[in-house]
Amino acid sequence: MNFNDGYVMTIDGAAVAGKATIEVVNPATGEPFASAPDCSKAQLDTAVAAAGKAFKSWRNTPIAERQAMVAKAGEILIANAEEMSRLFTREQGRNVEMAKQEIIGAGMWMKAVAAMTPPVHVSEDSDTQFIETRYVPLGVICAIAPWNFPVNLAMWKVAPALVAGNTMVLKPSPFTPLCTLKIGQMFADVFPPGVFNVVSGGDDLGPMMTGHPGFAKISFTGSTATGKRVMESAAKDLKRVTLELGGNDAAIVLPDVDIDAVAQSIFLGAFLNTAQICVATKRLYVHEDVYDALRDRLAAIASATKVGDGAEQGTVLGPIQNKRQYERVMELLEDAKTNNLTLIQDAAIPEGGGYFVPVTIVDNPPENSRVVQEEAFGPILPMLKFSDIDDVIERANASDYGLGGQVWSKDTKKAVEIARRLETGTVWINQMLNLRPDTPFGGHKQSGFGVENGMEGLLEYMVPQAVYLAR
Ligand code: NAD
Repeated sequence: MNFNDGYVMTIDGAAVAGKATIEVVNPATGEPFASAPDCSKAQLDTAVAAAGKAFKSWRNTPIAERQAMVAKAGEILIANAEEMSRLFTREQGRNVEMAKQEIIGAGMWMKAVAAMTPPVHVSEDSDTQFIETRYVPLGVICAIAPWNFPVNLAMWKVAPALVAGNTMVLKPSPFTPLCTLKIGQMFADVFPPGVFNVVSGGDDLGPMMTGHPGFAKISFTGSTATGKRVMESAAKDLKRVTLELGGNDAAIVLPDVDIDAVAQSIFLGAFLNTAQICVATKRLYVHEDVYDALRDRLAAIASATKVGDGAEQGTVLGPIQNKRQYERVMELLEDAKTNNLTLIQDAAIPEGGGYFVPVTIVDNPPENSRVVQEEAFGPILPMLKFSDIDDVIERANASDYGLGGQVWSKDTKKAVEIARRLETGTVWINQMLNLRPDTPFGGHKQSGFGVENGMEGLLEYMVPQAVYLAR
């Protein structure tokens, strides 16, 4: 596969060019380097109709065959990871090695999901009747992905939706459409025409899709603000929704930690992927006894961390992925400066037109400052002091978000007690960002609606059907 040009949509198994195009920018330079199709309303109609037609036979294809095709698609991703990673870095910004890891991880995820089979529950099997509940697919799925993990988060939708017997139209973010468009072409050899369609376009395409009557369900990953619009749009014809949304995760560090042993992991848990991770630590609460020591250690790690073009050897953190997000992050930094917050910013950033932001630690800002209250989705980490456990749990939970959280302590019993009191979908104790295909992932409060992954995630692409048989 040529990853350097020829970016086309995949509709009903065919390669389809756009009548118009959108520009794709390399965030390390700020310059456009490719263009992607801008899907028209008529092309979207064709894709939804093709998926609707394909659903009639795909739902009746034996699940073992569907699972085998999804596993094969995963293999194809893994086989192409090395080559695709360079394109990934150009459009997303992250370093090539981490880009490759995402693509391989997505392929392995697909293979793991392909091994899952929905259950059948028998409630009665007697002389008079037999009652079972089985799960059936929904229809055509509208899948909408963000730009921070463009391949992985899309495949989290593709694998369970297709294993369950649905068909799909997938839309990547306008900022990172290219790898997903190539995946559409690669998978065209695996799935029957119409089962898996990929369309790309600008800001109008998302609402055009969520309002389309041909979809049975919307699976959306992105910001909470957009998630609310998606849910509103879905309400018109009661489409099912799964919404994976924003977070403002708190990590709580107790005084008994070994700073040298945990600092690197705490740093990566906040700044990996240039902090553009929904479950990155966005508020770091540190006990006052170890606060200064951890702050100084994190600052030292930050100044030794290379920020640069992901295509360059040795780059750990790339640019912010797009201009819109860059401006938001810079505005938050300006607000912190205007309010005289103490910023620790030693690391150098490249000059030029790229969307680079220095790794920034905000030293004990007030709880009500914007850097604490808002999801930065960029490398600005507020560190906050605490002395009392009940108080810190209260502060950690005082958020409309509830995605993830971390607790760091040698006393695992105490850490588990704290973890159970956090109002979040995932809590890590003495580790960070660990996710698995067999374990449900989702948000409490305004971080989400429904879950992905695990059997629970697979069943979000199905509805129960109870069958009562009189004997
Ligand atoms: P975003 O909400 O701006 O965009 C996400 C997707 O929605 C894009 O494909 C976009 O084109 C599309 N979209 C935009 N407006 C739409 C509309 N009105 N209707 C339908 N679709 C529309 O989010 P983003 O900036 O791409 O991603 C960053 C956000 O995503 C952060 O808040 C982050 O925390 C969150 N996120 C959550 C998870 C999770 O699993 N919970 C994972 C990754 C990212």
